[in-house]
Amino acid sequence: MGPQRAELLKKELSIFTFDDLLNHFPYRHIDRTKVDPISSITPATEFVQVAAVLVSYEVIGLKAGRRLVAQVKDKTGFLELTWFQGVNWIQKTLQQGQAYLIYGRVTFFNGKAQIVHPEMEVLTAERKDGKDFLEPVYPTTEKLKARGLGGKQIGKLSEVLLNLLKEKDIPENLPDDILQRLQMISRYEACRTIHFPPAADAYEQAVKRLKFEELFIAQLRMAMLRSERHRYSKGVVFDKVGDYFNEFYKHHLPFALTNAQKRVIKEIRVDTAKGKQMNRLLQGDVGSGKTIVAVLIMLLAADNDYQACLMAPTEILAQQHYAGISSLLEKTGVTVGLLTGSAKSAHRKKILKELAAGSLQILIGTHAVIEDVVQFKNLGMVVIDEQHRFGVAQRAKLWAKATIPPHILVMTATPIPRTLAMTAYGDLDYSVLDELPPGRQPITTVHRYESQRSKVMDFLKAEIEKGRQVYIIFPLIEESEKLDYENLMQGYENVKTYFPEPKYWISMVHGRQPSEQKELNMKRFVEGDTQIMVSTTVIEVGVNVPNASVMVIESTEKFGLSQLHQLRGRVGRGAEKSYCILMTGTKLGNDARERIRIMTATNNGFEIAEKDLELRGPGEIAGTRQSGALNFKLASIVQDRQLLETTRSLAAELLENDPDLVSAENLRLKNFLLSQKSKTAWSRIS
Ligand code: ADP
Ligand code: MG
Repeated sequence: MGPQRAELLKKELSIFTFDDLLNHFPYRHIDRTKVDPISSITPATEFVQVAAVLVSYEVIGLKAGRRLVAQVKDKTGFLELTWFQGVNWIQKTLQQGQAYLIYGRVTFFNGKAQIVHPEMEVLTAERKDGKDFLEPVYPTTEKLKARGLGGKQIGKLSEVLLNLLKEKDIPENLPDDILQRLQMISRYEACRTIHFPPAADAYEQAVKRLKFEELFIAQLRMAMLRSERHRYSKGVVFDKVGDYFNEFYKHHLPFALTNAQKRVIKEIRVDTAKGKQMNRLLQGDVGSGKTIVAVLIMLLAADNDYQACLMAPTEILAQQHYAGISSLLEKTGVTVGLLTGSAKSAHRKKILKELAAGSLQILIGTHAVIEDVVQFKNLGMVVIDEQHRFGVAQRAKLWAKATIPPHILVMTATPIPRTLAMTAYGDLDYSVLDELPPGRQPITTVHRYESQRSKVMDFLKAEIEKGRQVYIIFPLIEESEKLDYENLMQGYENVKTYFPEPKYWISMVHGRQPSEQKELNMKRFVEGDTQIMVSTTVIEVGVNVPNASVMVIESTEKFGLSQLHQLRGRVGRGAEKSYCILMTGTKLGNDARERIRIMTATNNGFEIAEKDLELRGPGEIAGTRQSGALNFKLASIVQDRQLLETTRSLAAELLENDPDLVSAENLRLKNFLLSQKSKTAWSRIS
């Protein structure tokens, strides 16, 4: 290929090497042996391929409505083809009386079937006979098409390449045992067949094999990282459960722990006593009581003469954790400090000094705690609250704070589906709080239209009369979005007319406020001085006001499922019956309706996470967007869940028997992993 087209291939499709070309898979195949009669087209038909003769064509309409319309016919009937773009050029290529092979999506217009922008080619004698394989069509771009590298022409390149490649060029990488057990074809055969399959079932075999490989290799890498860490990492040893932990557990625990909490604490205790660094993900639904787990674990660190640190994603949350935890630990004698970005310099100095001296045992804060100036005497435990991800750079900063890296516990904001967790975070150990504290009443969730607003407001009044507090949440996706801001302000004025001072007091919190104002308003609500919190999603994560019993969400259609679930989790935290009211206008898309249906049907965060994954796909789930671990070419962690589970257990089994892949059967697997090593940037949470 000439240098210009080569350059374009690099730019447009990132195809640099033979390997890239080989892995540029066709998105469909043309089956020349399967031609549909035109008469078979019904409104239910999606795609058709017809062999038909061009009867006539004409350009009709003007300006934006200008289009080329052609009539074609086969023995069974007529079909209309329409082009809105490239009218002049296409017109020139059409030839009356010529037979064409035509492919495309069928649409119905005024009761008549048509194909808009069909794929079309002259039906030659050779074409009519069909080939011995299905013809591949590849993803391409407009620029490449203009250079003669359309969806079919790329197939010519693949054909040339595949003719050059011998079996030894695409060596097998999976062990024979696995190939046999799953009845999979060889890697060489799969690579050929996915491009040029002789028939549909052969294509399926090739896809199955390559999807398996993709998922299996990813699972294997994750499992190896985990097992290497288990074997070789060094960690501080928490081998005693001492007075701090026991005293608190026996005398100051404000409630009995749930069995799930006890189990998770035990898992962490066992893990931190081994002398290996712990890297653990703790998943728990909103309100499942992750905070107390963190507190007990930090006491365990103190018992072993190590410092601990709890990091929260926002200033408000850090302050709330500080207030809650320091009062919980008041009688234990453990020292607790707070460090956030807005700390006054005298306070900051004092904290830094105490940390370095080791007199401060527990530090609570925001990202401010990982700044270089923050030096611990002996940091042993880091808890990262309400965050899915914690970047590699940040991890490195944490590690630099101690000679032996501290144990790390990441507590997630929202449950992630199991499949997603094991794919994105498979290198971490995993604990789950799958039980809510007793006595919680399920939150009643309802959908209300704008027209029912005054009834909703009356309901809020009645709840406030009973001494409860309420949230009213407005969407503000980007804090800079003007329209959202105006809606919030208007909403606030509206709430004020229903709830006038001095009988009622309202807090308002949004991202445009200076942080002191934000905190003051938050504090007044937390302390019960205001009954109503009008806010944007800045309060989304973690905030805990057990007396709040109603969550009203405005313009519900603008929120994603997991966000709605997080918001709902702000109520139902006390003993009172709680409600979540989803407000919308009457015009709603199907997706929004589905989200509302799910929200009113279940309170279970794990179920919601599964639905969210189905509706939005893995790329959109919070915190996993940049995770390279989810970028599969063929496999989908939603559709191929079953296969994912299979590869996971096979990978585990294989490593169990041969952790370093030294056996002869696994040698080619090892070589493959080594040859691929530089390709994937596996970013771990911590
Ligand atoms: P999350 O997991 O969402 O961070 P929190 O740790 O904020 O949940 O706990 C939610 C609420 O439940 C808090 O008010 C907390 O005091 C309470 N709580 C936690 N564990 C228990 C328990 N075992 N029994 C009763 N209440 C509990
Ligand atoms: Mg929490």
